[in-house]
Amino acid sequence: MEDCLFCKIIAGEIPSSKVYEDDDILAFRDIEPQAPVHAVIIPKTHIASANEITAENSGLIAGIFEKIPVIARELGVADSGYRIVNNCGADAGQTVKHIHFHLLGGTTGGKLY
Ligand code: AMP
Ligand code: ZN
Repeated sequence: MEDCLFCKIIAGEIPSSKVYEDDDILAFRDIEPQAPVHAVIIPKTHIASANEITAENSGLIAGIFEKIPVIARELGVADSGYRIVNNCGADAGQTVKHIHFHLLGGTTGGKLY
């Protein structure tokens, strides 16, 4: 997908601080961390937002959730705890139109809701 920041990161056209990668998934450190540990997890296939999840591509999303424990352990927050956040659309503040899940850890703020 042209002009997609995260597709360019996947292609290696924009550098990132990778924390996990396999054939289907990439996770990298957020450039403006909102917590002591803040990674962004994305599918390598361009899906614009949670609104675009379908029966055909939901396996990619399930695959991300299968790998979240691995990534959290790699980042050292599996036992202490973390949040997974997805922002979908303008009201939620989604700035990059390639679906992504924020993994936020290293802070003790209690619940956000
Ligand atoms: P959202 O605001 O939910 O769409 O999340 C997009 C996230 O991407 C933000 O937290 C940004 O800080 C992050 N971001 C933007 N550009 C980069 C980049 N080049 N490398 C790493 N993270 C980035
Ligand atoms: Zn993309």
